[in-house]
Amino acid sequence: MPAAAAPLAPTRRRGLGLILASPSGAGKSTLSRQLIADEKPSITLSVSVTTRERRSSEIDGVHYRFVTRARFEAMRDHDELLEWAEVHGNFYGTPREPVEAAFAEGRDMLFDIDWQGTVQVLDKLPDDVVTIFILPPSMRELASRLHRRAEDAEEVIARRLANARIEIAEWQRFDYVVVNDDLERAYGDVRAILRAERLKRRRGTGLDGFVAGLLAEG
Ligand code: 5GP
Repeated sequence: MPAAAAPLAPTRRRGLGLILASPSGAGKSTLSRQLIADEKPSITLSVSVTTRERRSSEIDGVHYRFVTRARFEAMRDHDELLEWAEVHGNFYGTPREPVEAAFAEGRDMLFDIDWQGTVQVLDKLPDDVVTIFILPPSMRELASRLHRRAEDAEEVIARRLANARIEIAEWQRFDYVVVNDDLERAYGDVRAILRAERLKRRRGTGLDGFVAGLLAEG
């Protein structure tokens, strides 16, 4: 009897980071929420720290960890942040330790961060992350989504729209670009990207033992 292929791999696959970036209102939060819901527990959201005011719909520790400016600066200065940036006048950053632990344990992580943070994460962990940029179908649609959301003051919306142009201009830095003109299709694209990236051999599939078993079969 030939030896059966080993069903379990002795080597562990390293987790990957999926970065979703986009201007505010392009639908990134909806896409990331859905992805987490459908793929849990194999992928979790990296919960950022921010000095921004909490919106009424947000829960501290779930959507963000809301911190004072002093606390943020202490975290930054003690190298507790993988990346950080000032966005729309507030500070945002990614706590480093949970990301390193997740990758080492083979768990994937989703990052909802801006292009400045993306550049820093790529610089520090170039082999671990895949980047997707979500584009709105038009600037007019982006503006109407921000107004419909009705979560921010008029002046905040105006600032976010002005920043959207700066953010969109960085689109060529990303591995993948998805136009969110149809939420279902855009979501399908994001999920397909995650699936394909999980199968990439370069990143380590955890299948070494399985393949060795196949080759050992008589
Ligand atoms: P919002 O205030 O609408 O939640 O987020 C504003 C922008 O900040 C979004 O583009 C979001 O992706 C980005 N952002 C959220 N968390 C982080 C973070 O930890 N780092 C960076 N660089 N950007 C972030």
